Amino acid sequence: MSERGSDVVIVGAGVHGASAAYHLAQSSARVTVVERLTPAGGPTGLSSGVCRAYYTNAFLAEVARDSIRMMADFEGIGQGHDSGYRRTGLLFLHPSQDVEEVTANVARLNEPDLQVELHAGDDLQRKFPQFVLDDIGIGAYEVEAGYADPAGTTAGMMAGATAAGANLRSYAVVQELRLRPGGGAVVRLKGGEDLEAERLLIAAGPWTAPLARQIGVELPLTVERHLVATTRLEDPARIPFGHGDLVTGYYCRPEGVDQYVMGWTHAGEQVDPDRFDRTIRREEELELETAVARRYPLMHDAQPRGGWASLYDVSPDWQPVIGEIAEGVFVDAGTSGHGFKLAPALGRHVADLVLGRPDPRLAQFDPRRFESGELLPAGYRDAHILG
Ligand SMILES: Cc1cc2nc3c(=O)[nH]c(=O)nc-3n(C[C@H](O)[C@H](O)[C@H](O)COP(=O)(O)OP(=O)(O)OC[C@H]3O[C@@H](n4cnc5c(N)ncnc54)[C@H](O)[C@@H]3O)c2cc1C
Repeated sequence: MSERGSDVVIVGAGVHGASAAYHLAQSSARVTVVERLTPAGGPTGLSSGVCRAYYTNAFLAEVARDSIRMMADFEGIGQGHDSGYRRTGLLFLHPSQDVEEVTANVARLNEPDLQVELHAGDDLQRKFPQFVLDDIGIGAYEVEAGYADPAGTTAGMMAGATAAGANLRSYAVVQELRLRPGGGAVVRLKGGEDLEAERLLIAAGPWTAPLARQIGVELPLTVERHLVATTRLEDPARIPFGHGDLVTGYYCRPEGVDQYVMGWTHAGEQVDPDRFDRTIRREEELELETAVARRYPLMHDAQPRGGWASLYDVSPDWQPVIGEIAEGVFVDAGTSGHGFKLAPALGRHVADLVLGRPDPRLAQFDPRRFESGELLPAGYRDAHILG
């Protein structure tokens, strides 16, 4: 396939579809993105936006690091859109049983120029007096971590893609996929229009598995409902950095000058992506806020600010599912609640895969790993979300 003449259709303008479109368009591929809402109109727009490179998977750590740097320097990418990246730092609090693994992992992370500091015992208590730390064995503090605006980042990457020639079809629904002889697919839109895709990328988040099924491919992805709660805390002693608690199983990050955003790190309830409760119930909000306040007592004084529920598309090992599933048909999904901050730089690898020149390190995410039962390691114990 000559790159100039290539014809790639992407289903989905979440942050993954938008980023792949951006990198494909930079490579002069002719790209059409089909999105049934608008960019980030699905789960991406309801993401908590935590950005950290504190991964156990070395490749994803590097990709997250590069993505964070792209969001921190978004001017040349986003055509005037703001990624909203704020560097706050992020502290990961681990139980004693993790000490050896965390120490080895942090040594690996610091090699490719990620700044992660380790603190234990009196040093941890002195450095972070705001927390109750009796059951914590070690704390890892990532200096460059922070948060960003998923809607702004996606809009910016999509704008960068269209500025380089990509075509965005918003409010267009892909209804049927059929394999084309010789590779790629015919994409039928609601209303009857057909798009010929020499290459097709399905980046449809929780709707990816049913679309793949239409071309005879079963992907073992499930869909989970996950909560986000927000609070306001004006106390000048509030911590300005984020933290993740791997004993209780939650994350909490600042938002602006007086708010926090928080959610659980463990698995959620499996739901139908087209029929689930998008609101957070009062008792769900309280349970989360109480858990955070046990570790960070100042949170007892915070005012609840409501929240929402959205969807994770979850793979059996909580690592992304990226690969060619039929000739000229590719998938980028299964990001299992940790894919926002990966997307800006991962899109370059996805684009290279679609253009037939993949980085060999991407092969570990091929969906065929599930057929042979070779699950990838991810995170720590049930906090697979740390990747
Ligand atoms: C509550 C919550 C909190 C999160 N927190 C974080 C976090 O702090 N940090 C982090 O890194 N990640 C986080 N994530 C995960 C992150 O948001 C996702 O990994 C990422 O947004 C997935 O992007 P995507 O482009 O793959 O999918 P999606 O955002 O699901 O996009 C898929 C798109 O495809 C479109 N689509 C589907 N079917 C069709 C069709 N038939 N025709 C046309 N269009 C279609 C949908 O409308 C949608 O816009 C969180 C996710 C949630 C839900």
